[in-house]
Amino acid sequence: MKPFVPQLVYIEPKALEYSLGRDLKEKFEKMGLEIKETTSHNQVRGIPGNNELQQYRNAKSTLVIGIRKTLKFETSKPSAEYAIPLATGCMGHCHYCYLQTTLGSKPYIRTYVNLEDIFAQADAYIEERGDQITRFEAACTSDIVGLDHLTHSLKKTIEHFGKSEKGQLRFVTKYHHVDHLLDAKHNGKTRFRFSVNSRYVIKNFEPGTSSFDERLEAARKVANAGYPLGFIVAPIYLHVDWREGYYELFQRLANSLKDTKVNDLTFELIQHRFTKPAKKVIAKRYPKTKLEMDEEKRKYKWGRYGIGKYVYKDDEAKDMEETIRRYVSEFFPKAEVAYFT
Ligand code: SF4
Repeated sequence: MKPFVPQLVYIEPKALEYSLGRDLKEKFEKMGLEIKETTSHNQVRGIPGNNELQQYRNAKSTLVIGIRKTLKFETSKPSAEYAIPLATGCMGHCHYCYLQTTLGSKPYIRTYVNLEDIFAQADAYIEERGDQITRFEAACTSDIVGLDHLTHSLKKTIEHFGKSEKGQLRFVTKYHHVDHLLDAKHNGKTRFRFSVNSRYVIKNFEPGTSSFDERLEAARKVANAGYPLGFIVAPIYLHVDWREGYYELFQRLANSLKDTKVNDLTFELIQHRFTKPAKKVIAKRYPKTKLEMDEEKRKYKWGRYGIGKYVYKDDEAKDMEETIRRYVSEFFPKAEVAYFT
């Protein structure tokens, strides 16, 4: 998987008031990319494409350089207290991705250059919580690692938290472009997680992301760079032979990590879920998907904003949780399972 390069770049004039905004403009000019001005990301016009589907695909390789105006951070349960907004959108094409509905008609990628404002806000939240540890999730609205080889804003964030006493950072990725992050002064305050899954799920539902082997290679580097490491197994999906598929995943993980320095390892387990609006969008954008989204086979769970989600029925979810927890304890007896949801 080659590192992401946008096909089209938009820049908000205000972004040029920040050094990162100016640096990015220069960088993309040197790369010979087309750069257009836009007063605000809401005014982005002219993404090419003869129909909605083509525009959607082109939007996913469009980058908007802008500033983050809303500095009220969303909460990010169960993995962290807050979501830290460094970017929005992603170049990947995972069929099940919830960004398809949360970003609606604006699937282009936005990177925010006013990092100082974002860090000041994070510090204020840490201060508010006094002696408690405050965790920030940087991958709620994008796959930030997939973009960071261009911006290095994640690297700066890692180093900001490296100096923090009570603040911690975490993010998850399906990309392996981690080399520039290996020498970041993280001081153990950042948990670097990789999203992993069975071969079936990666092959059928995760186009446009790094292969499993590339993610493993990156995880080895990250472990050897002394980062606390994590794996998010998500979405756990009950395909034919799922037990064997997930068992093999753990075998490969354990094999790959056996010669590394990893000593702080967590797993987060998330079963597949979908909402009715997501099902409609997925059917439009990935019409040939094999992703099973049959409401009859699932359990309805009430959700925020009145949009409930469909998860596996209790007996299947229980079986899934017990099975995967067993695999974790067989292959990684010292690792912690942070949650299953
Ligand atoms: Fe969504 Fe993550 Fe896939 Fe990007 S890599 S499309 S954020 S699930």
